[in-house]
Amino acid sequence: MVSRRSGAEPFKIKAVELVGITTREQREEILKRAGYLQFRIPSEYVYIDLMTDSGTGAMSDSQWAGVMMGDEAYAGSRSFFHLEETVRDIYGYRYVIPTHQGRAAENILMLAQTKPGSYVLGNMFFDTTVAHIEHKQCLGEEFMIPEGLDTGSAHPFKGNVDVQRMEDFIKMRGADSVSMIIITVTCNNNGGQPVSMRNIREVSAVARRHGIPLFFDSARFTENCYFIKKREPGYQDKSLPEIAREMFSYGDGATCSAKKCALVNIGGFLALNSRDLYDRCLEYLVLFEGYATYGGLAGRDLEAMSRGLREGLAGPYLEDRIGQVAYLAGELEAAGARVVKPAGGHAVYVDCKKTVPHLGMDQFPADALGVALYLDSGVRTVGLGTLAFGKKDAATGDWMPPDLELLRLAIPRRVYTDRHMDAVADSMASVLRNPAQIRGLRLVKETPRLRHFLSVLDLA
Ligand SMILES: *Cc1c(COP(=O)(O)O)cnc(C)c1O
Repeated sequence: MVSRRSGAEPFKIKAVELVGITTREQREEILKRAGYLQFRIPSEYVYIDLMTDSGTGAMSDSQWAGVMMGDEAYAGSRSFFHLEETVRDIYGYRYVIPTHQGRAAENILMLAQTKPGSYVLGNMFFDTTVAHIEHKQCLGEEFMIPEGLDTGSAHPFKGNVDVQRMEDFIKMRGADSVSMIIITVTCNNNGGQPVSMRNIREVSAVARRHGIPLFFDSARFTENCYFIKKREPGYQDKSLPEIAREMFSYGDGATCSAKKCALVNIGGFLALNSRDLYDRCLEYLVLFEGYATYGGLAGRDLEAMSRGLREGLAGPYLEDRIGQVAYLAGELEAAGARVVKPAGGHAVYVDCKKTVPHLGMDQFPADALGVALYLDSGVRTVGLGTLAFGKKDAATGDWMPPDLELLRLAIPRRVYTDRHMDAVADSMASVLRNPAQIRGLRLVKETPRLRHFLSVLDLA
Protein backbone atom coordinates (compact mmCIF):
# COMPACT_ATOMS: atom_id res chain seq x y z
CA MET A 1 0.00 0.00 0.00
CA VAL A 2 1.08 3.51 -0.75
CA SER A 3 0.68 5.81 2.23
CA ARG A 4 -1.82 8.62 1.93
CA ARG A 5 -1.44 11.95 3.77
CA SER A 6 -2.87 11.79 7.27
CA GLY A 7 -6.56 12.31 7.81
CA ALA A 8 -9.63 11.33 5.83
CA GLU A 9 -11.70 13.22 3.25
CA PRO A 10 -12.65 16.68 4.59
CA PHE A 11 -16.36 16.10 3.90
CA LYS A 12 -19.03 13.59 4.78
CA ILE A 13 -21.62 12.16 2.45
CA LYS A 14 -25.22 13.43 2.53
CA ALA A 15 -26.62 12.01 -0.70
CA VAL A 16 -25.41 8.97 -2.59
CA GLU A 17 -25.59 8.01 -6.23
CA LEU A 18 -25.48 4.32 -7.11
CA VAL A 19 -22.77 3.26 -9.55
CA GLY A 20 -23.12 0.79 -12.42
CA ILE A 21 -22.22 -2.76 -11.49
CA THR A 22 -21.78 -5.06 -14.49
CA THR A 23 -20.32 -8.49 -15.18
CA ARG A 24 -17.36 -9.09 -17.43
CA GLU A 25 -19.65 -10.75 -20.00
CA GLN A 26 -21.86 -7.66 -20.07
CA ARG A 27 -18.84 -5.40 -20.44
CA GLU A 28 -17.59 -7.49 -23.39
CA GLU A 29 -20.95 -6.93 -25.08
CA ILE A 30 -21.06 -3.22 -24.16
CA LEU A 31 -17.58 -2.66 -25.60
CA LYS A 32 -18.55 -4.38 -28.85
CA ARG A 33 -21.66 -2.24 -29.17
CA ALA A 34 -19.59 0.89 -28.38
CA GLY A 35 -17.09 0.12 -31.15
CA TYR A 36 -14.44 -0.03 -28.39
CA LEU A 37 -14.70 3.71 -27.88
CA GLN A 38 -15.17 4.69 -24.25
CA PHE A 39 -17.08 7.86 -25.24
CA ARG A 40 -19.86 5.60 -26.56
CA ILE A 41 -20.32 3.65 -23.32
CA PRO A 42 -23.54 4.73 -21.54
CA SER A 43 -22.52 5.93 -18.09
CA GLU A 44 -24.93 3.54 -16.35
CA TYR A 45 -22.48 0.77 -17.28
CA VAL A 46 -19.48 2.55 -15.76
CA TYR A 47 -18.29 1.61 -12.28
CA ILE A 48 -15.75 4.40 -11.66
CA ASP A 49 -15.71 7.16 -14.25
CA LEU A 50 -12.29 8.76 -14.70
CA MET A 51 -12.94 10.03 -18.21
CA THR A 52 -12.82 13.70 -17.19
CA ASP A 53 -12.85 16.06 -14.23
CA SER A 54 -14.90 18.59 -16.20
CA GLY A 55 -18.38 19.22 -14.84
CA THR A 56 -18.32 15.91 -13.01
CA GLY A 57 -17.68 17.20 -9.47
CA ALA A 58 -20.06 16.95 -6.51
CA MET A 59 -21.72 20.13 -5.25
CA SER A 60 -21.91 20.82 -1.53
CA ASP A 61 -25.05 21.22 0.59
CA SER A 62 -24.37 24.97 0.55
CA GLN A 63 -24.27 25.00 -3.25
CA TRP A 64 -27.52 23.01 -3.45
CA ALA A 65 -29.08 25.45 -1.01
CA GLY A 66 -27.85 28.20 -3.35
CA VAL A 67 -29.64 26.47 -6.23
CA MET A 68 -32.93 26.96 -4.36
CA MET A 69 -32.03 30.58 -3.58
CA GLY A 70 -31.12 31.43 -7.20
CA ASP A 71 -32.71 34.63 -8.43
CA GLU A 72 -34.13 34.01 -11.90
CA ALA A 73 -34.67 37.67 -12.79
CA TYR A 74 -33.77 38.34 -16.42
CA ALA A 75 -31.85 41.49 -15.53
CA GLY A 76 -30.09 42.50 -12.34
CA SER A 77 -30.34 39.06 -10.69
CA ARG A 78 -29.19 38.97 -7.08
CA SER A 79 -27.28 35.78 -7.94
CA PHE A 80 -25.27 37.67 -10.56
CA PHE A 81 -24.23 40.27 -7.99
CA HIS A 82 -23.12 37.47 -5.66
CA LEU A 83 -20.99 36.02 -8.43
CA GLU A 84 -19.61 39.44 -9.34
CA GLU A 85 -18.64 40.11 -5.74
CA THR A 86 -16.96 36.69 -5.40
CA VAL A 87 -14.96 37.02 -8.62
CA ARG A 88 -13.91 40.58 -7.75
CA ASP A 89 -12.85 39.38 -4.36
CA ILE A 90 -10.84 36.35 -5.57
CA TYR A 91 -9.48 37.65 -8.88
CA GLY A 92 -9.36 41.37 -8.19
CA TYR A 93 -10.78 42.20 -11.65
CA ARG A 94 -13.46 44.84 -11.98
CA TYR A 95 -15.82 43.45 -14.66
CA VAL A 96 -17.45 40.02 -14.60
CA ILE A 97 -19.23 38.40 -17.55
CA PRO A 98 -20.98 35.06 -16.94
CA THR A 99 -20.95 32.50 -19.77
CA HIS A 100 -22.44 29.03 -20.15
CA GLN A 101 -18.98 27.42 -20.00
CA GLY A 102 -15.29 28.14 -20.49
CA ARG A 103 -15.13 28.01 -24.27
CA ALA A 104 -17.86 30.66 -24.52
CA ALA A 105 -15.69 33.01 -22.47
CA GLU A 106 -12.79 32.24 -24.82
CA ASN A 107 -14.95 32.93 -27.85
CA ILE A 108 -16.09 36.31 -26.56
CA LEU A 109 -12.66 37.43 -25.39
CA MET A 110 -11.00 36.49 -28.67
CA LEU A 111 -13.72 38.07 -30.80
CA ALA A 112 -13.21 41.30 -28.91
CA GLN A 113 -9.43 41.22 -28.58
CA THR A 114 -7.84 39.51 -31.60
CA LYS A 115 -7.27 40.58 -35.18
CA PRO A 116 -7.18 38.01 -38.01
CA GLY A 117 -3.61 37.05 -38.81
CA SER A 118 -2.27 38.06 -35.40
CA TYR A 119 -0.49 35.85 -32.90
CA VAL A 120 -1.73 34.52 -29.59
CA LEU A 121 1.13 33.39 -27.32
CA GLY A 122 1.01 31.07 -24.34
CA ASN A 123 2.55 28.22 -22.38
CA MET A 124 0.37 25.49 -23.92
CA PHE A 125 -3.22 25.99 -25.05
CA PHE A 126 -6.18 23.82 -24.15
CA ASP A 127 -7.99 22.18 -27.11
CA THR A 128 -10.89 24.66 -27.13
CA THR A 129 -8.41 27.55 -26.98
CA VAL A 130 -6.61 26.20 -30.04
CA ALA A 131 -9.94 25.84 -31.81
CA HIS A 132 -10.95 29.42 -31.02
CA ILE A 133 -7.55 30.81 -32.05
CA GLU A 134 -7.96 29.07 -35.42
CA HIS A 135 -11.60 30.11 -35.69
CA LYS A 136 -10.55 33.77 -35.37
CA GLN A 137 -7.89 33.16 -38.05
CA CYS A 138 -5.11 33.80 -35.58
CA LEU A 139 -1.89 31.88 -35.07
CA GLY A 140 -1.17 30.23 -31.74
CA GLU A 141 2.45 29.94 -30.57
CA GLU A 142 3.36 27.88 -27.50
CA PHE A 143 6.42 28.57 -25.37
CA MET A 144 6.39 25.78 -22.83
CA ILE A 145 9.71 25.14 -21.06
CA PRO A 146 11.34 21.94 -22.39
CA GLU A 147 10.88 20.17 -19.02
CA GLY A 148 7.14 20.55 -19.50
CA LEU A 149 7.22 18.11 -22.39
CA ASP A 150 9.60 15.62 -20.77
CA THR A 151 7.59 12.93 -18.97
CA GLY A 152 10.68 12.00 -16.94
CA SER A 153 11.40 15.51 -15.61
CA ALA A 154 10.65 16.21 -11.93
CA HIS A 155 10.56 20.02 -12.43
CA PRO A 156 8.11 21.47 -9.86
CA PHE A 157 6.51 23.90 -12.34
CA LYS A 158 6.25 22.06 -15.62
CA GLY A 159 3.63 24.53 -16.87
CA ASN A 160 6.12 27.43 -16.96
CA VAL A 161 6.66 29.64 -19.97
CA ASP A 162 10.09 29.83 -21.59
CA VAL A 163 10.15 33.61 -21.09
CA GLN A 164 13.29 34.31 -23.10
CA ARG A 165 12.02 32.41 -26.11
CA MET A 166 8.67 34.22 -25.89
CA GLU A 167 10.30 37.64 -25.73
CA ASP A 168 12.64 36.81 -28.61
CA PHE A 169 9.58 35.90 -30.67
CA ILE A 170 7.85 39.18 -29.81
CA LYS A 171 10.95 41.16 -30.79
CA MET A 172 11.31 39.23 -34.03
CA ARG A 173 7.66 39.52 -35.14
CA GLY A 174 6.90 42.86 -33.54
CA ALA A 175 4.59 43.47 -30.60
CA ASP A 176 1.90 44.83 -32.92
CA SER A 177 1.44 41.39 -34.43
CA VAL A 178 0.58 39.82 -31.04
CA SER A 179 -3.07 40.12 -29.89
CA MET A 180 -2.61 38.63 -26.46
CA ILE A 181 -0.75 36.25 -24.18
CA ILE A 182 -2.67 33.48 -22.42
CA ILE A 183 -1.19 31.59 -19.47
CA THR A 184 -3.11 28.39 -18.72
CA VAL A 185 -3.09 27.61 -14.98
CA THR A 186 -2.68 24.76 -14.34
CA CYS A 187 -1.60 23.66 -17.78
CA ASN A 188 -4.14 21.01 -18.72
CA ASN A 189 -2.56 19.55 -21.81
CA ASN A 190 0.70 18.44 -20.26
CA GLY A 191 -1.00 16.90 -17.26
CA GLY A 192 -2.34 19.69 -15.04
CA GLN A 193 1.16 21.02 -14.38
CA PRO A 194 1.45 24.29 -12.43
CA VAL A 195 3.00 27.63 -13.37
CA SER A 196 5.11 29.38 -10.72
CA MET A 197 4.39 32.89 -9.43
CA ARG A 198 7.87 33.94 -10.46
CA ASN A 199 7.27 32.77 -14.01
CA ILE A 200 3.93 34.58 -14.15
CA ARG A 201 5.61 37.76 -12.89
CA GLU A 202 8.29 37.47 -15.59
CA VAL A 203 5.77 36.89 -18.37
CA SER A 204 3.80 39.85 -17.07
CA ALA A 205 6.89 42.06 -17.23
CA VAL A 206 7.46 41.04 -20.85
CA ALA A 207 3.79 41.64 -21.69
CA ARG A 208 3.84 45.11 -20.13
CA ARG A 209 7.18 46.03 -21.69
CA HIS A 210 5.69 45.35 -25.13
CA GLY A 211 2.17 46.60 -24.41
CA ILE A 212 0.53 43.19 -24.94
CA PRO A 213 -2.47 42.26 -22.77
CA LEU A 214 -2.04 39.16 -20.59
CA PHE A 215 -4.92 36.84 -19.71
CA PHE A 216 -5.21 33.68 -17.66
CA ASP A 217 -7.09 30.57 -18.69
CA SER A 218 -8.07 29.92 -15.09
CA ALA A 219 -10.12 26.68 -15.23
CA ARG A 220 -7.82 25.06 -12.64
CA PHE A 221 -6.43 28.13 -10.90
CA THR A 222 -7.12 26.97 -7.33
CA GLU A 223 -5.00 23.87 -7.88
CA ASN A 224 -2.25 26.10 -9.31
CA CYS A 225 -2.41 28.31 -6.20
CA TYR A 226 -2.07 25.25 -4.00
CA PHE A 227 1.05 24.09 -5.86
CA ILE A 228 2.58 27.58 -5.49
CA LYS A 229 1.96 27.47 -1.74
CA LYS A 230 3.50 24.01 -1.44
CA ARG A 231 6.40 24.30 -3.85
CA GLU A 232 7.48 27.91 -4.33
CA PRO A 233 9.84 29.52 -1.82
CA GLY A 234 8.25 32.47 -0.04
CA TYR A 235 4.63 31.33 -0.37
CA GLN A 236 4.30 28.77 2.45
CA ASP A 237 2.86 31.31 4.84
CA LYS A 238 0.61 33.10 2.37
CA SER A 239 -3.06 32.18 2.28
CA LEU A 240 -4.54 30.68 -0.87
CA PRO A 241 -6.73 33.77 -1.50
CA GLU A 242 -3.62 35.97 -1.15
CA ILE A 243 -1.80 33.81 -3.69
CA ALA A 244 -4.75 33.96 -6.10
CA ARG A 245 -4.96 37.74 -5.76
CA GLU A 246 -1.26 38.17 -6.43
CA MET A 247 -1.32 35.80 -9.40
CA PHE A 248 -4.21 37.57 -11.13
CA SER A 249 -2.73 40.99 -10.37
CA TYR A 250 -0.08 40.30 -13.03
CA GLY A 251 -2.69 40.04 -15.79
CA ASP A 252 -5.48 42.04 -17.39
CA GLY A 253 -8.20 39.44 -17.09
CA ALA A 254 -9.12 35.77 -17.13
CA THR A 255 -11.42 33.25 -18.74
CA CYS A 256 -12.74 30.45 -16.56
CA SER A 257 -14.45 27.13 -17.09
CA ALA A 258 -16.24 26.82 -13.75
CA LYS A 259 -16.74 23.09 -14.42
CA LYS A 260 -13.33 22.44 -12.87
CA CYS A 261 -12.06 24.34 -9.82
CA ALA A 262 -15.33 26.23 -9.25
CA LEU A 263 -17.05 22.92 -8.48
CA VAL A 264 -20.15 23.23 -10.64
CA ASN A 265 -21.56 20.99 -13.35
CA ILE A 266 -22.01 23.85 -15.83
CA GLY A 267 -20.84 27.45 -15.97
CA GLY A 268 -18.01 29.80 -16.78
CA PHE A 269 -17.09 33.46 -16.83
CA LEU A 270 -14.80 36.14 -18.13
CA ALA A 271 -13.26 38.70 -15.77
CA LEU A 272 -11.61 41.90 -17.00
CA ASN A 273 -10.10 45.16 -15.86
CA SER A 274 -10.58 47.28 -18.96
CA ARG A 275 -13.90 49.09 -19.34
CA ASP A 276 -13.37 49.43 -23.05
CA LEU A 277 -12.74 45.72 -23.56
CA TYR A 278 -15.69 44.91 -21.29
CA ASP A 279 -18.00 47.02 -23.45
CA ARG A 280 -16.82 45.27 -26.61
CA CYS A 281 -17.26 41.85 -24.96
CA LEU A 282 -20.81 42.69 -23.88
CA GLU A 283 -21.92 43.03 -27.48
CA TYR A 284 -20.77 39.50 -28.22
CA LEU A 285 -22.17 38.25 -24.92
CA VAL A 286 -25.65 39.43 -25.82
CA LEU A 287 -25.30 37.97 -29.30
CA PHE A 288 -24.09 34.50 -28.28
CA GLU A 289 -24.95 33.91 -24.63
CA GLY A 290 -27.51 36.25 -23.11
CA TYR A 291 -27.92 39.48 -21.22
CA ALA A 292 -25.01 40.83 -19.12
CA THR A 293 -26.29 39.52 -15.79
CA TYR A 294 -26.95 35.90 -16.74
CA GLY A 295 -24.84 35.06 -19.82
CA GLY A 296 -26.53 31.80 -20.82
CA LEU A 297 -26.96 30.47 -17.30
CA ALA A 298 -29.89 30.24 -14.89
CA GLY A 299 -29.76 32.32 -11.72
CA ARG A 300 -29.37 29.11 -9.72
CA ASP A 301 -26.23 28.23 -11.71
CA LEU A 302 -24.73 31.64 -10.91
CA GLU A 303 -25.44 31.11 -7.22
CA ALA A 304 -23.89 27.62 -7.19
CA MET A 305 -20.86 28.92 -9.09
CA SER A 306 -20.30 31.79 -6.69
CA ARG A 307 -20.35 29.43 -3.70
CA GLY A 308 -18.26 26.80 -5.51
CA LEU A 309 -15.52 29.32 -6.30
CA ARG A 310 -14.97 29.99 -2.61
CA GLU A 311 -15.12 26.31 -1.66
CA GLY A 312 -12.64 25.47 -4.41
CA LEU A 313 -10.03 27.75 -2.85
CA ALA A 314 -10.27 26.24 0.64
CA GLY A 315 -7.06 24.68 2.03
CA PRO A 316 -8.44 21.39 3.42
CA TYR A 317 -10.32 20.71 0.19
CA LEU A 318 -7.23 21.33 -1.98
CA GLU A 319 -4.97 19.30 0.25
CA ASP A 320 -7.34 16.37 -0.08
CA ARG A 321 -7.82 16.91 -3.80
CA ILE A 322 -4.16 17.14 -4.76
CA GLY A 323 -3.37 14.42 -2.22
CA GLN A 324 -5.81 12.06 -3.89
CA VAL A 325 -4.27 12.63 -7.32
CA ALA A 326 -0.79 11.90 -5.90
CA TYR A 327 -2.18 8.88 -4.06
CA LEU A 328 -3.64 7.35 -7.22
CA ALA A 329 -0.37 8.04 -9.06
CA GLY A 330 1.59 6.16 -6.37
CA GLU A 331 -0.84 3.27 -6.33
CA LEU A 332 -0.83 2.90 -10.11
CA GLU A 333 2.93 2.87 -10.08
CA ALA A 334 2.89 0.15 -7.42
CA ALA A 335 0.48 -1.71 -9.71
CA GLY A 336 3.13 -1.74 -12.45
CA ALA A 337 2.06 1.27 -14.53
CA ARG A 338 4.61 3.91 -15.52
CA VAL A 339 3.09 7.26 -14.67
CA VAL A 340 4.04 10.80 -15.66
CA LYS A 341 5.71 12.56 -12.75
CA PRO A 342 5.23 14.65 -10.76
CA ALA A 343 1.48 14.05 -10.69
CA GLY A 344 -0.44 17.20 -11.65
CA GLY A 345 -3.58 18.73 -10.21
CA HIS A 346 -6.44 16.78 -11.72
CA ALA A 347 -5.35 13.56 -13.36
CA VAL A 348 -2.82 10.75 -13.51
CA TYR A 349 -1.29 9.97 -16.89
CA VAL A 350 0.01 6.50 -17.67
CA ASP A 351 2.87 6.45 -20.16
CA CYS A 352 1.69 3.61 -22.40
CA LYS A 353 4.86 3.34 -24.50
CA LYS A 354 6.59 2.19 -21.33
CA THR A 355 3.66 0.40 -19.68
CA VAL A 356 2.49 -1.77 -22.60
CA PRO A 357 5.58 -1.88 -24.84
CA HIS A 358 4.42 -5.03 -26.63
CA LEU A 359 1.77 -3.05 -28.52
CA GLY A 360 2.76 -1.20 -31.71
CA MET A 361 1.58 2.37 -32.20
CA ASP A 362 -0.77 1.17 -34.96
CA GLN A 363 -2.58 -0.83 -32.26
CA PHE A 364 -3.40 2.32 -30.25
CA PRO A 365 -1.73 1.28 -26.96
CA ALA A 366 -3.35 3.97 -24.78
CA ASP A 367 -6.85 3.11 -25.92
CA ALA A 368 -6.07 -0.62 -25.77
CA LEU A 369 -5.02 -0.32 -22.12
CA GLY A 370 -8.18 1.70 -21.42
CA VAL A 371 -10.32 -1.03 -22.99
CA ALA A 372 -8.53 -3.71 -20.95
CA LEU A 373 -9.16 -1.73 -17.76
CA TYR A 374 -12.85 -1.24 -18.56
CA LEU A 375 -13.22 -4.92 -19.41
CA ASP A 376 -11.59 -5.91 -16.14
CA SER A 377 -13.56 -3.68 -13.78
CA GLY A 378 -15.81 -1.13 -15.50
CA VAL A 379 -13.37 1.74 -14.83
CA ARG A 380 -13.58 4.31 -17.62
CA THR A 381 -10.60 6.43 -18.73
CA VAL A 382 -9.55 8.25 -21.89
CA GLY A 383 -6.73 7.53 -24.32
CA LEU A 384 -4.62 10.50 -25.46
CA GLY A 385 -2.27 9.05 -28.02
CA THR A 386 -2.14 7.86 -31.62
CA LEU A 387 -5.91 7.46 -31.99
CA ALA A 388 -6.61 11.01 -30.83
CA PHE A 389 -3.60 12.89 -32.19
CA GLY A 390 -1.73 10.59 -34.61
CA LYS A 391 -1.51 11.43 -38.29
CA LYS A 392 -1.85 8.89 -41.06
CA ASP A 393 0.40 9.05 -44.10
CA ALA A 394 -2.08 9.26 -46.98
CA ALA A 395 0.26 7.46 -49.39
CA THR A 396 1.53 4.57 -47.27
CA GLY A 397 -1.25 4.30 -44.67
CA ASP A 398 1.42 4.28 -41.94
CA TRP A 399 0.71 5.95 -38.63
CA MET A 400 2.81 8.86 -37.50
CA PRO A 401 2.30 8.74 -33.75
CA PRO A 402 2.39 11.85 -31.55
CA ASP A 403 5.26 12.26 -29.07
CA LEU A 404 3.26 10.90 -26.16
CA GLU A 405 1.01 7.88 -25.84
CA LEU A 406 -0.92 8.48 -22.62
CA LEU A 407 -3.89 7.01 -20.82
CA ARG A 408 -5.52 9.70 -18.66
CA LEU A 409 -7.27 8.95 -15.40
CA ALA A 410 -8.95 12.25 -14.45
CA ILE A 411 -10.45 12.44 -10.98
CA PRO A 412 -13.83 14.16 -10.50
CA ARG A 413 -13.84 16.49 -7.49
CA ARG A 414 -15.32 15.30 -4.18
CA VAL A 415 -16.95 12.31 -5.92
CA TYR A 416 -14.80 9.27 -5.20
CA THR A 417 -13.10 8.14 -2.00
CA ASP A 418 -9.64 6.66 -1.69
CA ARG A 419 -11.27 3.22 -1.70
CA HIS A 420 -12.45 3.90 -5.22
CA MET A 421 -8.85 4.79 -6.08
CA ASP A 422 -7.75 1.47 -4.53
CA ALA A 423 -10.23 -0.36 -6.75
CA VAL A 424 -8.83 1.41 -9.83
CA ALA A 425 -5.26 0.48 -8.88
CA ASP A 426 -6.25 -3.14 -8.12
CA SER A 427 -7.79 -3.40 -11.56
CA MET A 428 -4.68 -1.91 -13.19
CA ALA A 429 -2.55 -4.45 -11.30
CA SER A 430 -4.70 -7.34 -12.47
CA VAL A 431 -4.56 -6.11 -16.08
CA LEU A 432 -0.79 -5.60 -16.02
CA ARG A 433 -0.13 -8.97 -14.41
CA ASN A 434 -0.91 -10.51 -17.79
CA PRO A 435 0.22 -7.92 -20.32
CA ALA A 436 0.03 -10.43 -23.17
CA GLN A 437 -3.75 -10.46 -22.69
CA ILE A 438 -4.04 -6.74 -23.38
CA ARG A 439 -5.27 -6.82 -26.96
CA GLY A 440 -4.35 -4.10 -29.42
CA LEU A 441 -7.08 -2.30 -31.37
CA ARG A 442 -7.66 -1.67 -35.06
CA LEU A 443 -9.80 0.87 -36.86
CA VAL A 444 -12.89 -0.50 -38.56
CA LYS A 445 -14.46 2.83 -39.49
CA GLU A 446 -12.38 5.96 -39.56
CA THR A 447 -13.52 9.55 -39.58
CA PRO A 448 -11.31 12.35 -40.92
CA ARG A 449 -11.89 14.55 -37.86
CA LEU A 450 -12.45 13.88 -34.13
CA ARG A 451 -11.30 10.31 -34.60
CA HIS A 452 -11.26 9.59 -30.87
CA PHE A 453 -14.94 10.59 -30.57
CA LEU A 454 -16.35 9.13 -33.75
CA SER A 455 -14.42 6.10 -35.06
CA VAL A 456 -15.37 2.46 -34.71
CA LEU A 457 -12.72 0.02 -33.54
CA ASP A 458 -12.33 -3.69 -32.95
CA LEU A 459 -9.83 -5.91 -31.19
CA ALA A 460 -6.76 -6.41 -33.39
C1 LIG B 1 -12.15 22.83 -19.69
C2 LIG B 1 -11.21 23.85 -20.12
C3 LIG B 1 -11.57 24.83 -21.05
C4 LIG B 1 -12.91 24.87 -21.75
O1 LIG B 1 -13.96 24.96 -20.86
P1 LIG B 1 -15.40 24.30 -21.12
O2 LIG B 1 -16.13 24.63 -19.89
O3 LIG B 1 -15.19 22.83 -21.34
O4 LIG B 1 -15.97 24.96 -22.33
C5 LIG B 1 -10.63 25.79 -21.37
N1 LIG B 1 -9.41 25.77 -20.82
C6 LIG B 1 -9.03 24.84 -19.94
C7 LIG B 1 -7.66 24.87 -19.36
C8 LIG B 1 -9.91 23.84 -19.56
O5 LIG B 1 -9.51 22.90 -18.71
